[in-house]
Amino acid sequence: MAEEIRKGHCLCGAISYEIKGEVGGVDVCHCRICQRIYGYVGAFVSVKDSFTIFDSEQKLKWYKPSKHTMRGFCSTCGSALFFSRTKDGSKSMSVLVGSIDSLSDVGISANPIHN
Ligand SMILES: [Zn+2]
Ligand SMILES: [Zn+2]
Repeated sequence: MAEEIRKGHCLCGAISYEIKGEVGGVDVCHCRICQRIYGYVGAFVSVKDSFTIFDSEQKLKWYKPSKHTMRGFCSTCGSALFFSRTKDGSKSMSVLVGSIDSLSDVGISANPIHN
């Protein structure tokens, strides 16, 4: 089976990314932080394998609203792109679903709450 590559980018195109391999289902979160940052809910897919960010103009900024989480966004267009959580020494990465180029096989699967 050929390895699947997904691509995504922010609204202005300054930041793009590639995901190789499997991704998780769509997680929707409406914790208080997601409400503030994304308007009400945030929708994410977790990246399990290889992940590359292309940011030649260094527009990606990270905001750290809580001790173990970071939110990545484009400082030019404001698009929300990434969610990263550090827990028990390991780091997980998710991308905001709306930034993925092809959404045809992505569906909502769960309702977790960040904390
Ligand atoms: Zn942008
Ligand atoms: Zn949340």
